[in-house]
Amino acid sequence: MSAEPVAQPLVGFRRWGCKRGGLYSGIFVAGRFVPNPALGMVAPRVRPTPWPTDHDRVAKCFALRGHDAPFPDCNCGWAAYYSLATEPDLPAPECVWGAVVAWGRIVECETGFRAQFARPLALLDRENPDDIREQGRRAAVATEAYGIVLLERDELIAYARWYGEVRMAAE
Ligand SMILES: [Zn+2]
Repeated sequence: MSAEPVAQPLVGFRRWGCKRGGLYSGIFVAGRFVPNPALGMVAPRVRPTPWPTDHDRVAKCFALRGHDAPFPDCNCGWAAYYSLATEPDLPAPECVWGAVVAWGRIVECETGFRAQFARPLALLDRENPDDIREQGRRAAVATEAYGIVLLERDELIAYARWYGEVRMAAE
């Protein structure tokens, strides 16, 4: 397996930790969101930065022995799944789901891909019952910050198809 440039942009679906309008990569552990654990490991005092709102960003790798992201035997690159569950899981109050368009060099796997370039297209309009603090406004605030739209699931998938190939299995 290698990172191959794709001819046509790919569309995928992913979740972020969303805080004050910023969309952060990270992991969800025991009901909590942990932004960018790889960066935290090598540089614990560096504050995680959200996905950019104004320009497309090239993916970086935070592994100690660096390489161009995405790299097949790593987990770097902008990651997304090919499909979006009917009711995507919401493992923490900060969790929001959305669609991304990705291009450049891409590492593909069975359930999704990791890409050199990506940007958010739209966020999923779905109530997160655990989000007491922001009472469902979290995704709406982020869509304003990123200049993207907030859509229900079917609309989100249809919208994403305008931007690239959706490899989601038909339901
Ligand atoms: Zn890497």
